Formats: sequence, C-alpha cells, structure tokens
Amino acid sequence: MSLRILKTVMFALSVSALLAACSESAAPPIEKSDEKPLAVSAGEAPAGQLDRSVEPGHYRIELRIDPRQDDFSGVVEIDIALNEPRDQVWLHGRGLQVSEAWLTDSAGERVAATYEEKLQSGVALVTLARTVPAGNATLHFKYTAPFNETTEALFKAVRDDKSYVATQFQPIAARKVFPGFDDPGFKVPFDISLVTPPGDVAVTNTPEASQETLEDGFVRHRFETSRPLPTYLIAIAVGPYDVVDLGPIPPNSVRDRELPLRGIVASGQADKMRYAIEHTSGLLTVLEEYFGIAYPYRKLDIIAMPKSFGGAMENAGAITYDAYLILMDEQSSLDQRRGYTRVHAHEMAHMWFGDLVTPDWWTDLWLNESFATWMSYKAADSYWPEGEFDRQTLKGALGAMGNDSLAAAREIREPIDSNDKISGAFDGITYQKGGGVLAMLERYVGEEGFQKGIQEHLRRHADGSANADDFIASVAAGSGVGEIDAAFKSFIEQPGVPLVSAQVLCAEGEKPQLDVSQSRYAPLGSSIEPESSQWLIPMCVSYDTDNGRQSTCAMLRESRQTIELDTDVCPSQLLPNADGAGYYRFTMQQSWMDGLVEGASGLSASEALVLADSLDASFRAGTVSAESLVAGMVALLNHPDWDVAEMAMDNLEALTNILDSEGLEAVLPGLRRMVQPRYISLESASDDGSKLLHRRMQRFLIVVAKDPELRKALADRASARVGLDGEADPSAVAPDEMETVFSVGVQDLGEPFLDLLMEQGLASEDPAFRRAAFGALARVEDPALAAKLQAAILAGKFQGTEPMRIMFRQMAREATSELTFQWLKENDEAVFELIPDSYRGNVVPAFGSYFCSLEKADEWEAFIEARAEVLPGYERDLAQAVESIRLCAGLKGARGADLQVALEAR
Ligand SMILES: [Zn+2]
Repeated sequence: MSLRILKTVMFALSVSALLAACSESAAPPIEKSDEKPLAVSAGEAPAGQLDRSVEPGHYRIELRIDPRQDDFSGVVEIDIALNEPRDQVWLHGRGLQVSEAWLTDSAGERVAATYEEKLQSGVALVTLARTVPAGNATLHFKYTAPFNETTEALFKAVRDDKSYVATQFQPIAARKVFPGFDDPGFKVPFDISLVTPPGDVAVTNTPEASQETLEDGFVRHRFETSRPLPTYLIAIAVGPYDVVDLGPIPPNSVRDRELPLRGIVASGQADKMRYAIEHTSGLLTVLEEYFGIAYPYRKLDIIAMPKSFGGAMENAGAITYDAYLILMDEQSSLDQRRGYTRVHAHEMAHMWFGDLVTPDWWTDLWLNESFATWMSYKAADSYWPEGEFDRQTLKGALGAMGNDSLAAAREIREPIDSNDKISGAFDGITYQKGGGVLAMLERYVGEEGFQKGIQEHLRRHADGSANADDFIASVAAGSGVGEIDAAFKSFIEQPGVPLVSAQVLCAEGEKPQLDVSQSRYAPLGSSIEPESSQWLIPMCVSYDTDNGRQSTCAMLRESRQTIELDTDVCPSQLLPNADGAGYYRFTMQQSWMDGLVEGASGLSASEALVLADSLDASFRAGTVSAESLVAGMVALLNHPDWDVAEMAMDNLEALTNILDSEGLEAVLPGLRRMVQPRYISLESASDDGSKLLHRRMQRFLIVVAKDPELRKALADRASARVGLDGEADPSAVAPDEMETVFSVGVQDLGEPFLDLLMEQGLASEDPAFRRAAFGALARVEDPALAAKLQAAILAGKFQGTEPMRIMFRQMAREATSELTFQWLKENDEAVFELIPDSYRGNVVPAFGSYFCSLEKADEWEAFIEARAEVLPGYERDLAQAVESIRLCAGLKGARGADLQVALEAR
C-alpha cells in the first residue's frame, strides 16, 4: 500500500504535516514463534508461511452485509488441490463464528469437518472426519463475524446517520472477513457476491455482472470472475455511496480498449471527487507507457474511505484512499494536491508491480513498496514536471538513513517467519531506503536498461508471484548488465548506512587521486561496529575542472581503495556522491567539507541535499563541530532550490531536541535571524517550489522559532477563521497555512479557541479542515487543555486514525510528552483499542521515540514490556525507540552546549 499510518508516517509527522503515502526465493522455513496458542493445543500450527501441500485454486464468496448491523455473514467455497492424502487442512481465519464446515472430495462426496482457530494471529485448523485422497476437493464454510471497530478488515463508519462499510486487508486482515489461505504467494481467481440492503451501492475488484432482488427485499450483486489475486488485494465497499462517473479513460498507444473509471465516495461528497478523477487518466497513461503493458484489470474504481485510515491501498481495480488524499479541488493546498499525485501514482503503479506480479511472501514486501515508491515519483515528475518530484526518491532515502543508523535497524529484505512480524516490515526501510537503492541500481544499469528489465519482469511473472532473485534476474536480462546481484544484495540483505571517507591526493605531475574507505555509519554513543559491514558501492564523485564540472565512477569493492580522477589539475571542490545517486553518507577532511559549504549555492539540488545530510550526520557522529554544522545549514538555507532549504530547516528543527528548555529559549532569536531573510524574499514568489518553501518557513518561524510578531498576526486570523468574536470568515486563512495558523490559535488564544476549533473540526466533512484542525489541537501546551483533548479522544469523538496522529504528536513534543505518557499509563487499554490490532505492536512502541533522557529510555522500555501480551511484534520497534532515546540523550550531553553556543551566535 501506499503510506499506511505506520511508523514511517508517524515519524514523518514530526517533520512534515504531509501524510506520506502508504503502504516486498526461497520461502523462509516455517518456524515456531513465541505466539501463544489459543485454548486448544496448536500442535504444528504454521505461525508464518503456509506449506504448499494444500493449494487453493478458486474462491466463491458470498457475503451478506447490512452496514446498519454490527455483524455480517458469509458462505464460502474454496477449491483446493491436495498434494497428498490428508485429514486436516491449515488455513487462516480470525474471529469467525463458523456454524458449518465440510469438504467435498474428488469423488463429490461430502466429508464432515470441524473448524477451529488455533493461533491468535488467525491460524485455523480444519479437521476432516476421514482422510481424503490427494487430488481436487472443495472446502465449504458458513459463518458470521463482527464488523471491525477500527479501520481494518471489514469496518464500519456512520456519517449523518448513514452506515457504510469498507475493507483494509493488507497485510493479514482478510482472514477476519473470510476463511482462506491468507498468504500472498497463493494467487487465484475469486467469484464474489454481495447481498446488501436495497439501494446500497456494492463495489469489489471486478465489474458487477448482475443483480437480483431476494425474497426479503435484499439485493444480490454478482461480480465478474477476477484475474488471479492474493487474498490481501480483495476490497469490498457497501453503503449509500455516491458514484461519480465522468466517462471511461480512452484507449492509448498501449491499451486498445476503454477503461471504465469511477469515484466512490460517501453521500454528498461527489463534487470533491472530480479533481482526482480528472487527473487519473494522465497519470495512468504515464505508467502504461513505462510498463509497455495495458492496465491489467477491467475497471478502476477509486474509493474515498468513509473514515480516516491513514493511507491508501492498491486493491486490484478498487483502490482505497484516505479521504484527505483524494477529496480536493483546484483551490486545495499545494501539499494536498501533491500528496494526491504521489499517492495515486504509487497505488496505480502497484496495479502492475504488486498486483499483476505479487511477492511470494512478506519477506519480499520491499519489492512491492520500494518499487511503487520509486515509480510514483518518476510518474508524478513526468505528469507534473513543475512539481519537481524527481528528487523525492533521494529525499526519502536520506530520511530513512536516520532509522538505518540504529544498531537495531532492519534490512530491506528481512526474513519473516511469523505473522507477528509482518506489519513491522511496513517502514521507511522498506519504502524509502528501498526506493533509494532501486534508484542507485537504475543509475548503474542505465535508465533504458532498467525499464527493459522491469518490463521483462512483468511479462515473466504476470498473474503470478516473484521474489528478489527473480527480480534481479529480470533486470539483468532486460538491461544486459550482469554482475548486479552481489552489489544489490549487499544493500538489501544487510542493514545500515555505508559511510565513505574520501581524501583527495594531489601530487605534481600525476593525475589527482581519491583515497576512499568504507565503514558503517555510527552516531555518537552507538553500539554499531563500523568495520563490521561492507558493501559493493556504485560510487560516483563530481568535481571542478578547468572544463567545468565532471564526474568519475567506480565500483567500491574493498574496504579501502584508490580512484583516479579524470583530470590533470587538482580540483578546487569535490563531492563524493555525484547527483546524490548513491545510498551512502560521506566524510572528507575539514578543509574539503568547508569548500563544499562555501560553494554550496553552486551545487545541484541533489548534491546540496546529500551535503546537508552528510554534514548533519557528521555532527551527530562527532566529527564536525557545531559551528561548522550551523554554518553549513545557513549556506543551505539560502540554496536556490526550495527543498534544500527545507531540509536544512528540518535538520535544525530536529536538533532542537538536544537543547534543554532554557537553551532552546536562548537560541530562538538566532533561529529567526537565520530564516527570516529568505522567508521575506519569497513573499511574492509564484512558482510552486517558492510557495512551498514560504509556507514551510512560515511554519518554522512560528512553530519552532516562536516569532512573536508573526504569531500575533496569525492569532488574529485564526480567531477570524473560526469566528471567535463573530461570524467565521473562511477567507481569513488560505488552505495551505491552515494548520500553522490554527496552531497559534490553540497555543495563544486559550480555551475558547480550542473548544470552538474542536467543535468545528469534529463537525466538518472536509478532510483537509479536519486534518489541519486536529494537527493544531495536538500542539496544545496548557496541561488543562491537553486533558480536555485527551478526554475527547477517550470519549470516541475522533474517527479512524485521527486519535493516533494526535497522540503521536503530543508524545513527540516536549511540552506535552510527559503528561501524555502519564495519561497513557492510566488509560492504556482504552487507547490501544483505538489502534488496529494488526499493527498496534508496531505503532505504540514508536510513540516514545522522542524522549531524550536515559531515565525515560528505561521507563518507556518498562512500560511497553509490561504490555507485551497485547502488543504482538513489538520487539524491534521498542528496541529502535529505546535506542533513539539513548542516542538523543548521549548527543545532548556531548554536543548540546556547543550547539546552543553556535546557534546563539547567529
Ligand atoms: Zn504501496
């Protein structure tokens, strides 16, 4: 999926208000996990991948769904092939009240069966009354199950007294809706029927084939047989939805038929769907042309979820979106429209990469997500060139390096041996680091060769599944470039950020040389052993020559080697990561780093971005002084490209975490002086980049640097917007500054403003308004008002993933982290209930990541471990959170005072 509201998104929140987009051999051996069996002995219950001695061949599913009720019912038949005689079958089901189960054997005889759920993660056993021979058979089930109360499985939303249901199955929630082989390697056709109240719209992956009215007045909707799909890509929506049909997408050079396209949205919201529909055809065409294969499914429905679920999901032919990502118009904020473009491209890219070709197990989730991340920016950049999406892959990869610098970092392609570990794979390493590594591979084999490799891969595995080895083989075959296997695997099968140390050696009469060595990057206080890892790094360096900028490339194979530069004179400046194409950080002698900072404004945006990252990382590793770091960030704040300045600002904001509150107070004037000149220069700019940077700088000056004059002006506008002293004036605040303006209102205008904003936010049907209002509410600092917000959360006033975002932000801010932690301790059970249980164990441990003292590290660890039972799969996420807290505390002790002095001097 695109960005799910998993850790990636949670961490992104602190830096950017933008919701990131969602949410890929040999099969790992099935191992016993420490999962607790339910009452009855689990015996040999497969805690991870199912064995292949029983394979599904076809599903026939009929669900009776009345969204006004609390439960639904199902009748399911699964054709299976038994590879050996059996008297039991392992499959998946969770929380299903099965009233009848039986099997029809290859002779057509009915064999009685019992169904029993054996593991909490939803592993079930069908026990047959007798042994049935190898061959074909059919499993039959009748059952009921409850609608989910969060936002996974088949969940319910009530708006304006109208009831809707929708689904989110990835990774393993399909088993809460129907019994089946809920394992991505099993890809088979589905026949689905939905029985619904009359008048309700029913949607699934394929076009509706027929309708019939039943005796009780309900309507049976039969849908066409699907192409082979894994269970997690099935989607269902039922309710009084509006259907927006602006006509099919016409044929193009790749597709010779029209493609039916519809928007599905809660009643009354149809107008807000037009923008997304109108911008679908262009993006889709870019993708079809890149893949050289027509869109694989018979129709495309884009579905706005009836309550916030935090991301988007690539269900084949029925993509679901958080309403914020899909309901908008031309007047909506640039951030929202960019978010839509990026996420829509990501999800549609999955129709080929993920849906047409699916990973054979969750170990290769990265194949799905790294690819869709990388492809989404490529497609978005092609469709909306002035949006400058081309550097997003690089920025994402640099963002992932923070997490990848932890000793507890996971590798991109992490073997997954139990259901509890699946959700943990949806993180910044899988999406953003993976995207960066694919970009590096593309650079190495060439753009055209890489595209041929992708096309080859899709042709070879269409309607099937594939793993990392298959992908590497396809790229090698398509591009004609062999020997990529070892280099690629050195990045996907070990964690960590390579650190390249480069020394320029110039001697009279000889070509200049670069002495380079590699190690694993380790921040101050880390337990990482830098010399313990080694990569095969496709490395390019760029440098000044008499003939202008030039670059030299080499494969870095050894821990230390020499690269000869292609010039006769000693360069005046050299950057060890040309175009930012490599996934690594660099360090050089101080004078060469200083040279890069002095000439920063002349570097390309990509090179300036890697410089910003490597400088920040060097400071965190203790190899660059606070003074040099701050000088570097000032230079980069004035780089012509908007996102370079944005990254410098983000680095500064993140570092304010290592200042104590008096220290922070003391540096605020310096922070303002660093940003104000550029901010003022952008006031009348009209290009997208300048507009984005202007808003980012406004936010920084107000939220981080607490500029008193700007705050006063914004508080007045916040008041006018919500009508604190009269009628509300929607024109008082532009959509793209709403959250910043409301944040000032929440912090400076006290209880009346907070009450009014909460009331308006909760009543609003506009996802952008809700998002801005709740994002601002989460910035409340007054303890009494924070308690009010917490009470509203426990009273169930927010919907879907909204409370998670609020809590995460309150935990991430020093003003509210402690009181939120205390509240969490007192209300842990009620709070956990608000989070879908399939990723509760990943999200909750991350809440504590922003503490910054050794004492808090211990407290947080104890808090989570005491609740381990209800947080399955928490181990790695807790280890990462605790390590982050300890590293922050270490950096604070070692460099906090120096940083304060350097910032105060500005
Ligand atoms: Zn995705």
